[in-house]
Amino acid sequence: MTAPADEAGTVRRVAIVGGGFSGAMLAAGLAENGVASTLIDRTGVFGPGVAYSTGFDGHVLNVRSGRMSAVEGRPDDFVRWLEAHHPDGADPEGFAPRRLYGLYVADRLAGAEAAHPGLITRVVGEAVALAGPVVCLSDGRRIEADAVVLATGNPAPDTADSLRADGQDRLIGDPWRSDALDRIGPNDDVVILGTGLTMVDSILWLLARGWRGRATALSRRGLRPHAHGARHGPPVTPGEALTTGPVSRRLAEARRLSAENDWRGVMEGLRPVTAALWVAADAATRARFLRHLRPWWDVHRHRIADSVAVSMRRLETEGRLMVYAGRVRRVEQTADGIVVDWTPRRGRSPASLTGRWLIDCTGPGHHPATDPLTGPLIASGRARLDPLKLGLALDAEGRVLDADGAPDRSLFVLGPPARAAFWETVAVPDIRKRIAGLVGTLAGPASDEGEQSDQAEGQADQRQQGQGDDRGDAKA
Ligand SMILES: Cc1cc2nc3c(=O)[nH]c(=O)nc-3n(C[C@H](O)[C@H](O)[C@H](O)COP(=O)(O)OP(=O)(O)OC[C@H]3O[C@@H](n4cnc5c(N)ncnc54)[C@H](O)[C@@H]3O)c2cc1C
Repeated sequence: MTAPADEAGTVRRVAIVGGGFSGAMLAAGLAENGVASTLIDRTGVFGPGVAYSTGFDGHVLNVRSGRMSAVEGRPDDFVRWLEAHHPDGADPEGFAPRRLYGLYVADRLAGAEAAHPGLITRVVGEAVALAGPVVCLSDGRRIEADAVVLATGNPAPDTADSLRADGQDRLIGDPWRSDALDRIGPNDDVVILGTGLTMVDSILWLLARGWRGRATALSRRGLRPHAHGARHGPPVTPGEALTTGPVSRRLAEARRLSAENDWRGVMEGLRPVTAALWVAADAATRARFLRHLRPWWDVHRHRIADSVAVSMRRLETEGRLMVYAGRVRRVEQTADGIVVDWTPRRGRSPASLTGRWLIDCTGPGHHPATDPLTGPLIASGRARLDPLKLGLALDAEGRVLDADGAPDRSLFVLGPPARAAFWETVAVPDIRKRIAGLVGTLAGPASDEGEQSDQAEGQADQRQQGQGDDRGDAKA
């Protein structure tokens, strides 16, 4: 049986926690397949989520528009939408403003609601607990369903929180909030924790507001995201030497191929098999990847538009952006700003950085064990953490595994919080594949265990056929 519901095992209603891209497009996909859903979001905005709520047009997509269709199997859906609504920006090779992408997702959700009246119910509220397949909201409402999908997305960064020496009001902890950087004055110097895509976003926003200050950015290795590059060769199909054997040998092969081809082609070639490689890797290999390779993976895999890369380089050349590698030891607030004590990476003596503000750009702070929604599930044994503590442990269909490793047939995870199981499940091209798989699972007919494992295998194959691009901030 796919998920518990009525006697026939049919899922009639799905409660989806999170109304960002993942939740909204899952609700649309379910409606198109005759399944009702209740879409719950605390913000009251359904569709754009964290990534596409920015109102600033300088925040462009990190993936070319031609790859950003929200719908699996309709690759030109977003570009066609742009042609109809914003023809000036309808270049499939371009990087459209993320604001427009948010409008597109909201539009697709509204279209599904109009085409399938009554199948999508929007609920504004904070989900605080799960009781079986019932979602409890902070105001006491209970949303009953046959299955629950947690599509709770990207939590705000929280690295700086743990360094907070006192109640610092010069610490900007959630740079994705629309008003987050409003307090920064035009001449204020800033210290930024994290040197990835959120750092880039923050600086772009400041520049657009006429900011003339200097930024010092710090992460463990000081790596910045690479540019997409105007054009590169075709994807390099990965052979056995790149996909099997010890990680060190695979890395050597990647280097060899990159010397012969454009490295971007090598990364593009790996995209379709990344999730399958992750699924096949044992815990020790995954741990080694995270410990040694992840920062390099992130900056090569999660790239930025060329125009954005040019702006960043110019700032560095002008001495207005300094990027350092090292580890933060302490953050202190002073009368006129903040002081960050840090230890440089290459064994040099401890040093200090000063600025008027500290911006935490270390990327999403996923902590399922202390999250109010998932923490109690772990404590009660209904869920468990994966061994590397990346997220909840899931099976190949995204079902939550309990303390004994048995899948919960009525509880699924979708999008970035499912990274423990799929690793690359952060960007639209990855998530839309998982949405298609989940719609198949939830809307499909009741099946026996044999059919179920066939389905899981089918989805694993599907995952092997294509993965996308994403943001992947390096943690400071
Ligand atoms: C700044 C930024 C830029 C990005 N740019 C790109 C890009 O250009 N291309 C790309 O492919 N990917 C990009 N991404 C990756 C991004 O993860 C996906 O594209 C996608 O937006 C993820 O959507 P989501 O719905 O899973 O998560 P989110 O957008 O984070 O949505 C989750 C939603 O859940 C709600 N929620 C969470 N917990 C609760 C609760 N307890 N109760 C009620 N509601 C709750 C939140 O309010 C939120 O609206 C970007 C990510 C970020 C953060």
